[in-house]
Amino acid sequence: MGIVGHLMKRVSPRLAAISESATMAITNQAAQMKAAGEDVISFGAGEPDFPTPGHIVEAARQAASDPRNHKYTANSGLPDLREAIAAFTRDHGGPQVRAADVLVTNGGKQAVYQSFAALLDRGDEAIVPAPYWVTYPEAIKLAGGVPVEVPTTSEAGFKVTVDQLEEARTDRTKLLVFVSPSNPTGAVYTPEETRSIGLWAAQHDVWVVTDEIYQHLTYAPTPFTSIVTVTPELEDRWVIVSGVAKTFAMTGWRVGWMIGPGDIIKAASNLQSHLTSNVSNVSQRAALAALTGPLEPMSAMRDAFDRRRRTMYRMLSEIPGVTCVEPQGAFYCFPDLTGLIGVEFSDDLAIAAHLLDRAKVAIVPGEAFGAPNHARLSYALSDEDLERGLVRMRSVLV
Ligand code: PMP
Repeated sequence: MGIVGHLMKRVSPRLAAISESATMAITNQAAQMKAAGEDVISFGAGEPDFPTPGHIVEAARQAASDPRNHKYTANSGLPDLREAIAAFTRDHGGPQVRAADVLVTNGGKQAVYQSFAALLDRGDEAIVPAPYWVTYPEAIKLAGGVPVEVPTTSEAGFKVTVDQLEEARTDRTKLLVFVSPSNPTGAVYTPEETRSIGLWAAQHDVWVVTDEIYQHLTYAPTPFTSIVTVTPELEDRWVIVSGVAKTFAMTGWRVGWMIGPGDIIKAASNLQSHLTSNVSNVSQRAALAALTGPLEPMSAMRDAFDRRRRTMYRMLSEIPGVTCVEPQGAFYCFPDLTGLIGVEFSDDLAIAAHLLDRAKVAIVPGEAFGAPNHARLSYALSDEDLERGLVRMRSVLV
């Protein structure tokens, strides 16, 4: 190694500070065990088990045969798709947005990154209620911002209060990450709670980045509320992040979007033009078919998730030492494992390792979501595997 090699770190400190996505790590480990022939049941994945509905796949098939789709598109997305996203947003409880307010991204994940990159300056603070989806703090740090975690409790249904937010606010607070329905807890804020948080943000000039990717996966009694719609006082200080992945069982197609004011969308679009350009044309055509086609397949999937949600909630709550808040949205249960920790297990990581080893069941430790002593279990798997997995889990815990 030359003298320069000694002086300079091989991996930049900026990237060395980023950890692997814990949900991906456990999913990969379970997949490797499965590939080696083991009967692993994974509650790890954050994706529907259903195939993408046929009419969407057919639109993609046709798009792939059309040479016009073998080229780049405008980097902000196909005009028809941007129009369809704006209409779909307006028609499903969102604000009165137009196609020009929409940037099509490679999944909601790229929209999350680009929102933080566009909004955060070095040292700006972003409030992230915990438990949180693993990507937010890492994406905030990459953008030069400082994630400020605000812990919530199971007693409060994993929902943050205005008092807690106010306590966390400083003169460096730039934005709040608002996620309802929540990954990993399944919490859904009521319209009143949503509006009070929106008003707090508006009063203090705090931007709201609202991740609405699970908006179509809510179960009674609390419907989805867009914080932007119920808080006109936010004026133009908000960004919506969403995508087709969860609603239409399209995780692999990589289509998401961000919606927001012109200057933010333009800045993010400039970044995207140097980063990934446009989303695959074929995937954009598939997303267009999803947003403009029949919605029955989406309701059928939601009904299946609702059934599995109730089964998982019941079976988890029956395991001694495990307590669970009934999730109202998304497709996760987030049990509290405190009652199991002590003699045999030191923490949630030890429980997850034990379950994978002894029951061949994969769960994601809560630590990854900023909530030690908890775990996330996805119920987006077949009814049969779900029940088998929970029976096996119970058998090695009691
Ligand atoms: N937001 C949340 C809350 C998520 O759970 C996910 C996926 N795990 C995403 C955004 C990103 O989804 P995708 O990139 O697949 O569109």
